[in-house]
Amino acid sequence: MQNLSELKEFLLTPLPVVIIPHQKPDADALGSCVGLAGVLTQLGHQVRVVSPSDYPEFLDWMTSETEVHIYQNKPVECQKLIDEAKLLVLLDFSETNRIKPIAFEKLNIEQKTSLLLDHHIGKTIEATFEHWTVKAAATAELVYELIDMLGLKHLITKNIAESLYAGMMTDTGSFKHPSTNSKVHRIVAELIDLGMDSSKVHRLIYDNNSIDRMRLLGFALAERMVVLPESQTAYFTLSQQDLKRFNFRNGDSEGLVNYGLSIKGISVAAIFIEYSDEIRISFRSVGNFSVADLARKYFKGGGHKNASGGHSSESLNDTVQKFLDLLKAYQPEILANIAD
Ligand code: 5GP
Ligand code: MN
Repeated sequence: MQNLSELKEFLLTPLPVVIIPHQKPDADALGSCVGLAGVLTQLGHQVRVVSPSDYPEFLDWMTSETEVHIYQNKPVECQKLIDEAKLLVLLDFSETNRIKPIAFEKLNIEQKTSLLLDHHIGKTIEATFEHWTVKAAATAELVYELIDMLGLKHLITKNIAESLYAGMMTDTGSFKHPSTNSKVHRIVAELIDLGMDSSKVHRLIYDNNSIDRMRLLGFALAERMVVLPESQTAYFTLSQQDLKRFNFRNGDSEGLVNYGLSIKGISVAAIFIEYSDEIRISFRSVGNFSVADLARKYFKGGGHKNASGGHSSESLNDTVQKFLDLLKAYQPEILANIAD
């Protein structure tokens, strides 16, 4: 970070701070918010997390010491908090369209001091202070680094350490993605030394499923997965009816797409979910084939080379058909990638 000393100085005076993660925050987005909020609160700031939309129930444990407001549920109150904030912190996103239902202009970012930490491709937002690199495995890693650079590691409590760990664990696919370098392991080692219980976090995140969610997983694998060996691709579709049948809750489809990639010989996986207002898509790949480009060019989305997402306002069938047409065009690229 270039102007670190300026940020240090700025943080000396207690201020109202609002921290914003991306819409439908995952463990990295929310864990980063909780981690930074915990440290800034101890410095005397009045810190609120304003999440654009709700977060999955299995992340509830993180937020016991953090004031989290959901913009979607209380837009007027949340807007007031944003307007009154003297510092806006944007975590785990850097594109203006990632905080729906908040309109980015409503942040009035040019008139405020802002801090942005993110690791996604395609940054379009400019903040006063930035720590942005696509090389980071998780935004939680960048939050840890910032806390370290500010000389505030001693303020990392057990809950903060566990929230940051949850972000790093999930964004690295439990430390298996290529982004899992030695720095990631070093930070995790430090977090363990600070008292966090990695095994407990694992169980809280991965062994906390509802029966409905497990049944949805079984159903999706048996009935809603299509495998196209000729394109080294597997994809899932879930209709509104499917979701209703399994009492779908936010977060229930988290990680489902990865089962596609776990099939031998498959290097691209996708899932198309029919929500009431739009189709949400997740893409995953292994190797050099960039699903971030695919999501950005054709599905109003973005993300990382190997993990991206997007959405579509067309029907479920039309969206899948568009994907299948694209697959034909990209087939040589996908197959070449694996040959490497
Ligand atoms: P997921 O499939 O887990 O929802 O998202 C995978 C990655 O793609 C995440 O890093 C997420 O931030 C990014 N992503 C998901 N949906 C969108 C989207 O609509 N727009 C952009 N720019 N990125 C997305
Ligand atoms: Mn992330």
